[in-house]
Order: sequence, then C-alpha cells, then structure tokens
Amino acid sequence: MKQLFILMLLLISFGLSNAQQPAGTKTKPTGDQKSQMEQLQANYAKQAELVKKFKSSFDSLTPMQKNMFFTEIKHIMDPEVPKIEPGKIDSDPPSDAVVLFNGKDLNEWEEVSRGPGGPGGKKPITWILKDGGMQPTSASGTAQTKRVFRDFQLHIEWKTPTGLPATVTGQDRGNSGVIIQGNYEVQILDSYSNRTYRNGQAGAVYMQYAPLVNPSRKEGEWQTYEIVYTAPRFKDNTNYFTPPRITIIYNGVLVQNNVAIQGPTVFPGIPQYIIKEHGDGPIQLQQHGNPTTFRNIWIREL
Ligand code: MG
Repeated sequence: MKQLFILMLLLISFGLSNAQQPAGTKTKPTGDQKSQMEQLQANYAKQAELVKKFKSSFDSLTPMQKNMFFTEIKHIMDPEVPKIEPGKIDSDPPSDAVVLFNGKDLNEWEEVSRGPGGPGGKKPITWILKDGGMQPTSASGTAQTKRVFRDFQLHIEWKTPTGLPATVTGQDRGNSGVIIQGNYEVQILDSYSNRTYRNGQAGAVYMQYAPLVNPSRKEGEWQTYEIVYTAPRFKDNTNYFTPPRITIIYNGVLVQNNVAIQGPTVFPGIPQYIIKEHGDGPIQLQQHGNPTTFRNIWIREL
C-alpha cells in the first residue's frame, strides 16, 4: 500500500512537471524524429531529478512499479481495440481472417512450376481435393496463393503420406514446406521417427534454425503450424533494414521463437544468402514429390 502511494506520488510529480511546459512541447508525435528525441531526453532528465529527490522511496518500489514510472503509463481509451469474433474452437478462423482453404474449393490458389523463388511461370492449380484436404498430383507444381501478404498470422494443417516404404528416409519422407513470400521455407517433413539434419526437419526454418523441440505426430495424422511472420524492411536493394522474423507453434508447441531469418532459403550446401528486395508475396505449399495434404488454412494480416 505504501509503495503504491509512493508510485502515485512520483507519477503525479512527473505529470505536474510536464504540465508546466509550454504548449506544444509535450510528447505528441509530430513526425519530427529529432524533436521527439529531444523531448524524450528532457523527460528522462526530469525523471532522473525526481528519482534523485525521492531516492530512498524510489528504491523501495518493485521492479514493475519502477517500470510503470519510466513508461509514463496512462489509461488510454481511444481508439477502442477492434472487437472480432473468435472461432468456436481455436483452430477455426476468427471473423477477421482470410480463409485460404476450407476443404471446398481451390479458388484462392494457383501454381508455379517449382519453388521457392521459381523459376517457373504461373498456371492454374492442378492440385486435387483428396483425403480431407488439398493435395498435389505427381504432375503438379508448387501451389501458391493468388493473394500476396506482408505481416501475418497463418494457421495451416497438414499431414504427410502413409504407406511409404521404410527405405524412403530423410528428406525424401513426406517433404513439403510452407514457403513465405516465395522466399523463406518452413520445412514440412515426416519427422516422427525419421532422422535427418536438425535444421531440415519439420518445424525448421529450412537450413537456418532447427526447431527447439520435436513435437511431431505420426505420418498420416493431422499436424498444425501457427506461424507469426513479420516481413523484412529493406535498407536498399540487397540489404535488410530489419530482417524477416518468424515465430512457429507446431502442434501447440513453440518451436521457433521470433527468430531473424538470414536470407532466402537456399539449397544445397552452406547457405550463401543473396538478398534481393521484395514486396508482399504469396504463401506457397511446396511440391516435393510427396502427396502431402493440407487443410483448414487461414490467415490474418497484421
Ligand atoms: Mg521442404
């Protein structure tokens, strides 16, 4: 209780000292980076003065209370956070999602001869509806969305084929992938009992990051990726300003924790990332010679 009182006192003191400033110098975004920085520095100086003045009291605050002071916390009412309707269960699309595949048709999809990154022209989709989802034929190419995306949350369910002989191992067993913006592959593979290189198994950012753990289900069982992706921003034609970032939850388990993607997926050998500026891009489902099946695909643009 005493600590709360001290915190309130500090917050009020800081608020009063700010209120004495000339109008127009408070921290409203002006678009002018320099003046915002100067204002922040002035705020920090005032906070430092107050902390010095009330040092013994300030030291008694908890870390969270100290943080509240430094973040100048306010109760912000507007604009109100948009209300959406969640799905009946968490795997159902919420009301603000774009449904990319609901089992009924392939209207959202087209095809490229291979991926990631081509070459190969676009053509109408030749994947088929089978085994409760969408699936490539042996003659199909990589599927890709007709729409393009930047930052997003993606839900996708997949299963690798059953009945493959035991001699089919490693990267040949159920290989597919979710290729983001036509450049960055999240690996799909039968990784239940099929050793391969750790950064090439299911849940890997292919050839870059192994998954933190292996929560794979058996071949033929439905598995889920929840992918949160932040697209890169570019400094120039060949360099990221901020790299792409990705978080992956695989069958309900965190396997990639906001990792920074180093460049477009490359194979084979040691990656030599050749970065080329790109804009928004499609979601691709890799055709790697396996009838991997996909269902319940939806995306929320962020
Ligand atoms: Mg693959």
